[in-house]
Amino acid sequence: MNVDSVRFQHLLGIEGLSREDLIFLLENSQQFVEVSQRDLKKVPALRGKTIINLFLEPSTRTRASFEIAGKRLSADTINISGSGTSVSKGETLLDTARTLQAMNPDILVVRHRSSGAAHFLSQELTRTAVVNAGDGMHEHPTQALLDCLTLCQHFELAPSELKGKNITIVGDIRHSRVARSNIWAHQLLGNKVTLVGPATLVPHEFADEEAFGGGVRICHTLREGVEGADVVMVLRIQLERQSDNFIPTLEEYTRQYCVTPQVLEGAAPGCVVLHPGPANRGIEISSTLYEGTQSLVEKQVTNGVAVRMATLFLLGSRGRKENV
Ligand code: ASP
Repeated sequence: MNVDSVRFQHLLGIEGLSREDLIFLLENSQQFVEVSQRDLKKVPALRGKTIINLFLEPSTRTRASFEIAGKRLSADTINISGSGTSVSKGETLLDTARTLQAMNPDILVVRHRSSGAAHFLSQELTRTAVVNAGDGMHEHPTQALLDCLTLCQHFELAPSELKGKNITIVGDIRHSRVARSNIWAHQLLGNKVTLVGPATLVPHEFADEEAFGGGVRICHTLREGVEGADVVMVLRIQLERQSDNFIPTLEEYTRQYCVTPQVLEGAAPGCVVLHPGPANRGIEISSTLYEGTQSLVEKQVTNGVAVRMATLFLLGSRGRKENV
């Protein structure tokens, strides 16, 4: 597969990608890891291209890494965030996006609180590739890619060999775009996904065939859910999206679902821990675990740059012949 055979014009989610596309993205990401380890961390791959990062919801890791990724590819990148835009004066997302498109950017990276925002823009913008950097509770595809890349590196497996692993995702699945993108990714790769949390935060529909093909197991007890897990992904309790009372109190949640080194004693030997950040230490994950030897959190952040470089490179160089 080469750049010209990439079938997607936008990266809106993991849902809808083929296994081949996913593996191709991961293999390309692996190649970009090395660029960030160089003394001079820049390649001319997207010289002359313009990338706009439109972040209308808070972000630290994703926004910084998209910006770094664009710069390391030599693209001209500009960042726009919610409070500094005409959105705060009442302009609609579509008008904002059309205004930006009129300046001829090649790629628009968008984060928005509404599920479906990136998809909507991809239908409306005719000349600009759209990358979903997190849309409401829907998807966060580059997060799933960086999580998978981190696991490939840790287990020393090529992306096509990352299969048959037990992946347990713990926490606020209901509100998590990270969980949704990861579930799709692990279904494509052939890993087994278990979701753990209180019934209010882990809706039983996730196990339905219509939701994710029926391959997802649900558990409401932490110890049972992590039993035999090769990977435990801990999610943040999304306090900003809790419109109803999904949990009685944070203390109660912590008592039942906080992931600690002791909880992981029943996991598979060599079990590793992922967290997309930002973490509520002491609520969904203990500090000892977050910083301990089982944690791959920093590697995830590092890999975020490589994954975003690969994504921007593949979308930004469609139809071009040059290589890195
Ligand atoms: N940073 C991730 C996201 O934007 C996870 C989180 O916020 O909890 O979805």
